[in-house]
Amino acid sequence: MSHKHRDPVYPEGLTGVFDTHAHLYDERILADSGNVLERALKCGVDTVLVPADNEETSKKAVDFVREWDGYKGIDLYCSVGVHPHEASSYDDRTEQALIGLIAEREKHKIKAIGEIGLDYYYDLSPRDVQRDVFRRQLQIAYELDIPFILHEREATQDSLNILKEAKQKGMMLASPGVCHCCTCSAEIAKILIDMGFYIGFDGPLTFKNNKKTPGVLEICPWDRILVETDSPYLTPEPNRGMTNEPAFVTLVVEKIAQLKGADPQEVARITRENGMNLFRIK
Ligand SMILES: [Zn+2]
Repeated sequence: MSHKHRDPVYPEGLTGVFDTHAHLYDERILADSGNVLERALKCGVDTVLVPADNEETSKKAVDFVREWDGYKGIDLYCSVGVHPHEASSYDDRTEQALIGLIAEREKHKIKAIGEIGLDYYYDLSPRDVQRDVFRRQLQIAYELDIPFILHEREATQDSLNILKEAKQKGMMLASPGVCHCCTCSAEIAKILIDMGFYIGFDGPLTFKNNKKTPGVLEICPWDRILVETDSPYLTPEPNRGMTNEPAFVTLVVEKIAQLKGADPQEVARITRENGMNLFRIK
């Protein structure tokens, strides 16, 4: 039997690309960190934000940045927080650990809380617990004046209700965060954009069967578009099926350029500026 072997495509030619979402502490990447970062730089990706999904990976994200920041000139940042999948693991002690890390945000290069939100697709934690943990972390984001990375899947109405409730109480920042790997409709995305959110685009935008996300891109103003990989997941075409890594965010940049009829380097420049604005990077 012949086995179809494909080599990954590493597009070169762009500069100053910001991958705003890559789980670089994941085992599939960690063992090869130096090479992954070198390939990113070779493709023009010189800034990466490493998000967390529980207390343990919050520490791993911080450790990764401490170990690799500045490697061959790469600029790394991270976030800390508890993902809805992991909501059951959240208690007062977890909360204090997160607050303790954020108190030293300058030292650790922590730029956001996240991923936080609701996921009713996998339902890995009970929904009432997910909602409670989401609310608690939203409150921390507001009180500590730090943006958050929203993970929402098949929980749109409840997510919107919780966000609106925070906004009505005056407990939401003007620029609250990013709807990471936006899977919602253009109509819902519009509501989030009106609330001040940025929209994160990644691999699924390049998937041939995806009709929804191009519609979200169409209504998204230029100054709210972020690019992300969600490495090691969601690998864009034509590398779909392989382990994702920050170098591949350039495929998302190119797809946005194609759909919007824009110059890819201009898309790289704008999405970088957007990331810098949201995460307050000078
Ligand atoms: Zn993620």
